[in-house]
Amino acid sequence: MEKWIGIVGGGQLGRMLANAAHELGFKVAILEAAPGSPAGLVADREIIGRVTEEAGIHELANMSDHMTFEIESADAHTLRELTRAGFDINPSAETLEIIKDKFRQKEFLRAHDIPVADFALIESVDDAKRQAEIFGYPFLLKARFGAYDGRGNRVIRREEDIAAAFAELSSSPLYAERFVPFMKELSVVVVRGKKGEEKNYPVVETIHENNICHMVIAPAEIDGAIRTRAEEIAGRVIAHLKGVGVFAVEMFMTEDGDVVVNEIAPRVHNSGHHSIEGCETSQFENHIRAISGMPLGSTALKAPVAVMVNILGDRTGMAEPRGIEEAESLSGVHVHIYGKVETRPERKMGHITALGDTHSETIARATEARKRISI
Ligand code: AMP
Repeated sequence: MEKWIGIVGGGQLGRMLANAAHELGFKVAILEAAPGSPAGLVADREIIGRVTEEAGIHELANMSDHMTFEIESADAHTLRELTRAGFDINPSAETLEIIKDKFRQKEFLRAHDIPVADFALIESVDDAKRQAEIFGYPFLLKARFGAYDGRGNRVIRREEDIAAAFAELSSSPLYAERFVPFMKELSVVVVRGKKGEEKNYPVVETIHENNICHMVIAPAEIDGAIRTRAEEIAGRVIAHLKGVGVFAVEMFMTEDGDVVVNEIAPRVHNSGHHSIEGCETSQFENHIRAISGMPLGSTALKAPVAVMVNILGDRTGMAEPRGIEEAESLSGVHVHIYGKVETRPERKMGHITALGDTHSETIARATEARKRISI
């Protein structure tokens, strides 16, 4: 009998999840506000509705054997009610509720003795000025809700920056955070199955520009002690979160060789995209395996090095992907285009994964591949 996976959200994460679900023999339904979304283009059924509203989520639940979400703005309250009513939804709505409010997420981490940068709730420009006296400059102002891909935070370098940042981020309540002078940013993607079994993908380095992820390097070039510490902290974070599936823990590696958690994603994550070609089992396949109760696959790398480069939009207009063949003519290079109709500056339009033997050569080849593509 056909089994259906329901995904709340129709972005690129939903698309890659849907592809993995198909490979495992599932039918896929997705919920997204407009037709023709990246996931809608590959799903068996598109339900048109907002991920923040009850109606579409109910319709999706009614046709799904196993349900998940690919976006934190999914309506956690409705997901919680549906779970109570017996629907199989993972990760748990409770986990989503904690994570979707970034301030609550930080409080949760601190309460469980996970190292995080100091932070404080901010209600006004004057509040932020007072907090700056404690944190010093630079510090960060961050949106509690709805922040993604660098759109929810600002580095405040001097007092005069505060009012502008407040105006720009005003659609959400804010909090302030102490600046972490990090050496590297790291991420650990962890998957937990229904029997409680857990596996993590090798620690990766993520490189951000303008607060948005540009490159992921697997494995991270770090010494063994930091690797162990990052894995240990990721394991401790995940142990406190309910539900099964893939989680990502983003961290800073500090100058004194410590690890501080920046944030958690209760879902497949950009720092795991290289796993499609680079690992024995992709994060997408392992997420579907986890939520449907199948055994998890190996998370080991298949090549010594895998490098992922995001293809970000650089203008506003209709997307016209070019140069894909030229990029893929480089050995070990794979290009993914998400099918978004419109491009915008810094919108995630696709990604490239390059596999290779050494870090420097693979990074160079991934960078060259990116140069050959225009959107
Ligand atoms: P976030 O909005 O929390 O996902 O952060 C996006 C990016 O902003 C991170 O990957 C870092 O590059 C930078 N960032 C966030 N928080 C801090 C911090 N406390 N100190 C320094 N850089 C930060």
